Amino acid sequence: MRRKIVAGNWKMNTSVAEGELLVDQITFLSKDFDPNVEVIIAPPFTHLSRIADVLKSKKSKIALAAQNCAYMESGAYTGEVSVDMLKELSCKYVILGHSERREYFGESSETLLKKINLVLNAGMKPIFCVGEKLEERESKQHFEVVAAQIKEVLYKLRGVEFANVVVAYEPVWAIGTGKTATSDQAEEMHAFIRRAIANKFPLYAEDTVILYGGSCKPSNAKELFSKDDVDGGLIGGAALVAQDFAAIIKSFD
Ligand code: PEP
Repeated sequence: MRRKIVAGNWKMNTSVAEGELLVDQITFLSKDFDPNVEVIIAPPFTHLSRIADVLKSKKSKIALAAQNCAYMESGAYTGEVSVDMLKELSCKYVILGHSERREYFGESSETLLKKINLVLNAGMKPIFCVGEKLEERESKQHFEVVAAQIKEVLYKLRGVEFANVVVAYEPVWAIGTGKTATSDQAEEMHAFIRRAIANKFPLYAEDTVILYGGSCKPSNAKELFSKDDVDGGLIGGAALVAQDFAAIIKSFD
């Protein structure tokens, strides 16, 4: 059976103290979590050290992710954070290719390929986001767009490397908008992504975890997670409210 994952992307939200409180609340609620669901949180860089300590002190199984990383290894790159620094802070995952990074910071597939290789070489796992914009869906180009995002980055990996990648389908029109893809729309794209992966990595496609992201909340998570190819969620807004995040984690059948 495929692994199930729920990951919370905090984006540029919370102070360190608020983040610590949120982790306290989530770890308290985690007593009721299904141990077969891996829970990941991605706080801002500035919070990682403190939150890693809190998780460690509570012997929590919640894994830590970074929201981004540099595409260079080290050196004179003012303001950047390297994969080695993230590894040192106990990050197990790094979110890459989020639509906000692609759109506001001009991240191209070329840059993402450099980042994904660095993350994999450092022994961490990328959560690689793909997804189409509203106009692309409206002009029925969504499959083409997502296929290109996969081919330009994931197809360049070797199978053994790809085996460590988690994919997140995040339709851009659903992120932070309150507009969720229907479970059928999500399943249609997730199945398409799995087929695209199977074309290149036949040995790994069945085990690849594909998360849905885009206004996922307690009221729609169960329906989304009931679909065959939806293996969990990448959660933005709802991950900032411990009870909502916990309810989403408990939404698997
Ligand atoms: C996200 O940004 O990854 C996301 C899914 O955000 P939200 O849940 O707020 O739509």
